Amino acid sequence: MKPPECVVCGADAAAPGELVRFVSRPEDLAWRRRVERDRLVGHPPDTAWLCERHVEAGRRLAPELDLDDAVSRLRASDPSAPPSPEPRVTTIRGMPIAEFVDRLQLLVTRIAAQLGVPAPDLVPRTTRTWHPMDGAVAPDCPFVDDTTWTSPESPLTLVGSRAWWSDGVLARAHETLLIRVAGVSASVSGHIPADRSTDRVGELLITGDLPSAVAALVADSFPAA
Ligand SMILES: [Zn+2]
Repeated sequence: MKPPECVVCGADAAAPGELVRFVSRPEDLAWRRRVERDRLVGHPPDTAWLCERHVEAGRRLAPELDLDDAVSRLRASDPSAPPSPEPRVTTIRGMPIAEFVDRLQLLVTRIAAQLGVPAPDLVPRTTRTWHPMDGAVAPDCPFVDDTTWTSPESPLTLVGSRAWWSDGVLARAHETLLIRVAGVSASVSGHIPADRSTDRVGELLITGDLPSAVAALVADSFPAA
């Protein structure tokens, strides 16, 4: 399962938000049949997290629309909810995704101390989703590993994903720190793009407003290029 982030607005979708299943498209049904047959786990492509603000409207649309159409409808009817807030982009010294994760983990601890919240335990829990294509099926097809490092209830949440063409051949990767403490709702993330132009994280993407002391910690962890 994906971490509980609203598919419409990106907000925390932990309870009272919930997972909602929409009308299955043919490819969604094929996914469900495959998962059942091969006893796999993963996040169903017709199912999405919705936050407190969007879950009711989402449940109403669920019997009529597929996920894509429902998300378009929900975004159109709620212009106050930026679908995905445009991040501010900073160029940083490029680094492998593994180093980026190490630095984010240290940053979690430092931000927790700065904000006076308990530092969350960082324990990776990974869910693998197979993506059969061109006749290739698991374990010989591309797959995505979604990892959560922290409990979804933590005010500081670390989540990441790696999409692999095959074992050891990385297609894209991202790692995101979500900060949801009283008065602060922000994210700090980095990624390796799908276009394979680089295998290093060279940009820091920040959404929301960071308190200046936290912004200073972030800048210290990820020096500008
Ligand atoms: Zn929402």
